[in-house]
Amino acid sequence: MCVNLTEVVVVGAGPVGLTLAMRLGLKGVRVLVLEAQDHIEKDLRASTFHPPTLELFDEQGITPRLIEAGLIAPTWQVRNHPAHEFAEFDLSVLKPHTAHPYRLQCEQWRLSEFLKAYIEEHLPSVTICMGVRVEGFVQTPERVDVQTQDRVGSKETWSCDYLVGCDGAKSVVRKGMDLDFEGQTFPETTILVATDFQFQDHLPNLSFINYCWSPQGTFSLLRLQHLWRVSLYPGVDESIDEAIQEASIRAKLQLIAPQCEAAHILQVRPYRIHQRVVRHYVRDRLILAGDSAHINSPSGGMGMNGGVHDAFNLADKLSRVIQGESAELLALYERQRRPIAIKHVIEQSAKNRARMQEKDADKRQQTLKNLQAVSQDPVRALAYLLETSMISGLRESMALT
Ligand SMILES: Cc1cc2nc3c(=O)[nH]c(=O)nc-3n(C[C@H](O)[C@H](O)[C@H](O)COP(=O)(O)OP(=O)(O)OC[C@H]3O[C@@H](n4cnc5c(N)ncnc54)[C@H](O)[C@@H]3O)c2cc1C
Repeated sequence: MCVNLTEVVVVGAGPVGLTLAMRLGLKGVRVLVLEAQDHIEKDLRASTFHPPTLELFDEQGITPRLIEAGLIAPTWQVRNHPAHEFAEFDLSVLKPHTAHPYRLQCEQWRLSEFLKAYIEEHLPSVTICMGVRVEGFVQTPERVDVQTQDRVGSKETWSCDYLVGCDGAKSVVRKGMDLDFEGQTFPETTILVATDFQFQDHLPNLSFINYCWSPQGTFSLLRLQHLWRVSLYPGVDESIDEAIQEASIRAKLQLIAPQCEAAHILQVRPYRIHQRVVRHYVRDRLILAGDSAHINSPSGGMGMNGGVHDAFNLADKLSRVIQGESAELLALYERQRRPIAIKHVIEQSAKNRARMQEKDADKRQQTLKNLQAVSQDPVRALAYLLETSMISGLRESMALT
């Protein structure tokens, strides 16, 4: 058995783990990132970057690269289909509050690849080991011993001062900390479909981000540089297996735009929606960040953004603790980030989800009128967009003591 020593082991090379590793590396902390996959997964997950996240990534030049690979969305809409009525939110009202008054549409794997490349090029104190799965760990008062297995079955033990679980919703670190993931799983399954069909040529006044009601239920249309992501739902009495068949997907896409008969279906991904948060983010030398600590409905695009905000906050405090300041700073990390995950990420995304799940036509009409009124009133629109663009949450987090 070989024992390797480092200051911090980060489990998971997702957007949160790599952000944390980069920020710690910039402070000269010795970091080992252990990632079970041998490559950055390119599955369809987050596609929306909010203004404060873009500001945080400006410093290392990551944001210009994301902008180049993505699409700037100056507005987003809630729409009533097929009537083409909509409420549109114009993010330019955020100009006095941010250098990036828009949402950026870009795949989350691109962020992970940019971060990995930055670390490998600029940060010699950070090592990323791909294809190494963390299987368990033992915490003592002095250190944490982390047990891993690589893809050919070799086992190893790595010793570190702090272990951070950025290993997603099924986190082995959270499970090893013996913490429940409290919350609920929603009943519906979402079917995420990627297609190159150009919806904007067929649906009038479409934004790049559209949350839509339809007579059959709800769907969303989110545009990326080369494709549209469509969130669909199984029909009444339709099983998930039936709903992911090409014929079923094509039928649903044609209800959105009849012209999309010959659209290429590039990817299909069914997923369940949860809202859960762990009771503690920190237990002595064990720490959680991102999806390992909190998960929420993707409606509004806040999960990855919130996890990245965790990583920036934690990197500042953990690097100071490693340089000799009080470990109380880690408790401050939990006090600043956990309530924000609950109040600004989980609750806001649950409201967004509930709004779009509404089936009653009159209630939809009333909600649309209310949203139109908010979007047209500069004061209310600003307050709403500060909240839904995650600016209020990040500001509130930094003010917590
Ligand atoms: C359909 C969908 C759409 C979404 N849209 C948005 C959006 O628009 N905006 C937004 O902000 N969020 C969105 N999210 C949420 C976002 O994808 C997650 O919040 C984000 O991926 C969390 O990042 P993470 O780094 O914490 O975890 P993950 O991305 O899950 O990364 C965890 C990493 O840890 C690795 N790992 C796991 N276990 C181990 C182990 N034992 N050993 C070593 N490595 C391990 C995994 O392989 C993985 O690479 C969406 C999610 C879904 C499903």
